[in-house]
Amino acid sequence: MTPKGMDPMNLAELVDPTHAEDVKLVRAREELRAALAPVRREGCSIGLVPTMGCLHEGHLSLLRAARAECDVVVMSLFVNPTQFGPGEDFERYPRDEERDLRLAAETGADFVWAPPVEEIYPDGFATHVEVDGSLTDVLCGDPSRRGPEHFRGVTTVVAKLFNAVQPDVAYFGQKDAQQAVVIRRMVRDLDFRVRIEVLPIVREADGLAMSSRNAYLDPRARQQATALSRALGIAKETAVAAGIDAALEAARAELRAAGVEPEYLEARDAEDLTPVAELSDRPVLVAVAAQVGGARLIDNVLLKPSTNEH
Ligand code: AMP
Repeated sequence: MTPKGMDPMNLAELVDPTHAEDVKLVRAREELRAALAPVRREGCSIGLVPTMGCLHEGHLSLLRAARAECDVVVMSLFVNPTQFGPGEDFERYPRDEERDLRLAAETGADFVWAPPVEEIYPDGFATHVEVDGSLTDVLCGDPSRRGPEHFRGVTTVVAKLFNAVQPDVAYFGQKDAQQAVVIRRMVRDLDFRVRIEVLPIVREADGLAMSSRNAYLDPRARQQATALSRALGIAKETAVAAGIDAALEAARAELRAAGVEPEYLEARDAEDLTPVAELSDRPVLVAVAAQVGGARLIDNVLLKPSTNEH
């Protein structure tokens, strides 16, 4: 974990005066800024991995990429209340800070920034960052589904994380495909000086996309939940041979057979999320969301016309 171009002794002092191999837990934004200022002055690159904790292999894949590419790795750990709707699971969202710290340390994070809610949203907080229009009023942003407030909560907190950490690179998962598209747009529109990396979905052996919310699934629902990735796999195979409508129909049939009623199952342009009816030379996102047992699950697959990868 020695930053490129830095004397290891020097870095050990900057990163953690006591245990260079351990992750340093920081609560206060000013403490984080103070710790990162000398790192930045030395010309070291900073990678940020935003998370809501309850880490799994999906999060760890982002941390590993950050570790491989950046001199200093910061993981934020914050269950962001403003991206949960009134009826959603903010209160019961799984939290295990001790385990998260251990996994972050093992994966090579240098800092875990775990602010209390008041640090992010002080009394009188009144400013929001919102990407509006077609990127956030579809799929999870559709008012009849999760709602645009969800993305307003995401972009507001991510903008604050970017301001506090000022990362050179920030890592997100393709699992939350719409979130990644929305964040890229925010970064472009507001001139954030950060490169956004979006990494592939990490799955369980049976195909289920890893998610902290999988913890809500009882054994029956856990079995049922495998229908999402199966349906997407079928959609991908069918699309090449029979087109998008047939692909969505085949996927819907697979979900139906498993007793899963999708909240949405749609094909969208992967970059601007406009509806697509036919394959073209642009990548297509097939995205699904469904309530399965106690968990609202999302998953997606990319159809890449140039390679026709399976
Ligand atoms: P969360 O803690 O759920 O907010 O997720 C933090 C980051 O991890 C987000 O960028 C997610 O897209 C990403 N992520 C979550 N699950 C996965 C997964 N199965 N594979 C890859 N990245 C993931």
